[in-house]
Amino acid sequence: MPGLLAEMDRAGIDHGLLLQLFEAPSVRAGLEEAAAQRRAGHGRLHTVTTVDPTRGKEEVRAAIRLWDAVPGLAGIKLYPGYKPFYPHDPRLAPVYEYAHRRGLPILVHQGDTLDGIGLVKYARPIEVDEVAGRYRDVRFVLCHLGNPWVHEAAELVYKNENVYADTSGLLAHPSTPYFDRMVRQAREVLYATLVTIGRPDRILYGSDWPLEGLEVAVELVDRLDLPEEDRAAILGGNAARLFGLSRRPRRSRAAPSAK
Ligand SMILES: [Zn+2]
Repeated sequence: MPGLLAEMDRAGIDHGLLLQLFEAPSVRAGLEEAAAQRRAGHGRLHTVTTVDPTRGKEEVRAAIRLWDAVPGLAGIKLYPGYKPFYPHDPRLAPVYEYAHRRGLPILVHQGDTLDGIGLVKYARPIEVDEVAGRYRDVRFVLCHLGNPWVHEAAELVYKNENVYADTSGLLAHPSTPYFDRMVRQAREVLYATLVTIGRPDRILYGSDWPLEGLEVAVELVDRLDLPEEDRAAILGGNAARLFGLSRRPRRSRAAPSAK
């Protein structure tokens, strides 16, 4: 954690969201790890929990009982694609109802699965449309801008006032072949997304740390040719509002991280 906090300082980031991964042996084990990270974060690191609905209804019920005891929970991330379920899977209804009761955003993994084992058909933005419409007061975040289905993600954000998207995972390590071109392409994708939506207030900076460096991810947004207030909204203002994070007077940024 000290390494992450130092990297956050270097990148000018106030707050980070620590996303639990679906591989945790149990929700309880994941939450215990998250509590330790949260303590080490001195109020700057916030827990985003997860649950795998394919483990059954009792797993979902047990997760919700555990979440009830977690103070300051920032959100719930779902991993369709890595696991074989759609966001509109009926087994997730209690999760969405819980998110509604507690005002928690739902982050939805989108697009490519790093392991090559998952099925990306579960991780398309269009599959979020149904639940975004059914649960109008639950806010959904399309992670990774839906990459590679970025136009589909932009349409979802445009259509649904309760749908957001984040910029995490658009880049890889700078040693990746064609990295400079990758950065330019990601900026073009962001411009196209903003044009489709017509406003910047539901696009969130994200990093996918440690797969992406925080500074590289910040730079992707910071160098966009946009009004300063729009860049500031994407780099932190929107996330601060969505996740209820306090802001510093200057350079306030929030950093969704992990895959
Ligand atoms: Zn993800």
